[in-house]
Amino acid sequence: MAGSRGRTLVALLRWIMAVLVFPALPAGAAPDQPIPIPVAPGAWMVQGVSALGSAANRNFISNAGIVVTAEGVVVIDALGSPTLAQELLAQIRTLTPLPVTHVIVTHYHADHIYGLQAFKAAGAQVIAHRAALEYLHSDTAARRLAASREELFPWVDENTRLVEADRWIDGPTRLRIGGVEFVLQPVGPAHTPEDLVVHVPSKRLLFAGDLVFRGRVPYVGLADSRQWIASLDTLLGFPVDVIVPGHGPLSTSARADLELTRDYLDYLRRTMGEAARNMEPFEDAYAHTDWSRFERLPLFRAANRINAYNTYLLMEQQGR
Ligand SMILES: [Zn+2]
Repeated sequence: MAGSRGRTLVALLRWIMAVLVFPALPAGAAPDQPIPIPVAPGAWMVQGVSALGSAANRNFISNAGIVVTAEGVVVIDALGSPTLAQELLAQIRTLTPLPVTHVIVTHYHADHIYGLQAFKAAGAQVIAHRAALEYLHSDTAARRLAASREELFPWVDENTRLVEADRWIDGPTRLRIGGVEFVLQPVGPAHTPEDLVVHVPSKRLLFAGDLVFRGRVPYVGLADSRQWIASLDTLLGFPVDVIVPGHGPLSTSARADLELTRDYLDYLRRTMGEAARNMEPFEDAYAHTDWSRFERLPLFRAANRINAYNTYLLMEQQGR
């Protein structure tokens, strides 16, 4: 009797913690620090929580990469607030006394770039794809920042600013930094126009930004899946063992994860494309499509039908 009442009390306290104290985090979780996780010799990642950005999680919802070279540290993506970036800099100092010399930005979404100013202040050079400039100078980016200053206060405030790259690249770019080669490969427009992936051949390592979803049905949204498939084929050409995605845990079955996303997108385009060409109503096409290869994947129920519907609309347009 007392035991069950005790368990009920614990469950209730957990629920209160989850709902009131850390609304965006799973029950029992605390706001995380960006703790480096080894991914290859001389390379680490920090992993954001799986949630929407909020003041409670300090916008720590995306990943960043760290590669230590003989001359300095290369960071991939800058995290979602200046404070987090400061913490990442402090964590890096526990790995090496060398300074951060470069930050490579995979794309200019808020959760990957609001920390940039901390790295600039620490003397790092920022590198990104030129296609980000249009977004950076847009009203959308300014409105987004204004909203974030409210929603993510005090982690994002009036001192948080959008930071342009010091070096804009226009195409595939090889950098040799402290004896380590980095291949910066544009793969957009897919998730964004400026998508970049960063390949470190000597470590068989790829930082894939937001192009790769792992072990789950991807969220397709309004992305152009044709370009996305082409980008995944580019990624499949890189000889890698480990992929660090923009969100979520690292992948050590890189090829299988990439192939799953590509095959899923390809299957959506083939089945929904055929239905659109035959002017078959979406509901009928959806009902008789064989989803057995994908229906056991996490988020199938949440995402598959809307993915199929968006693809059906896309194929109607592209078929014309
Ligand atoms: Zn992201």
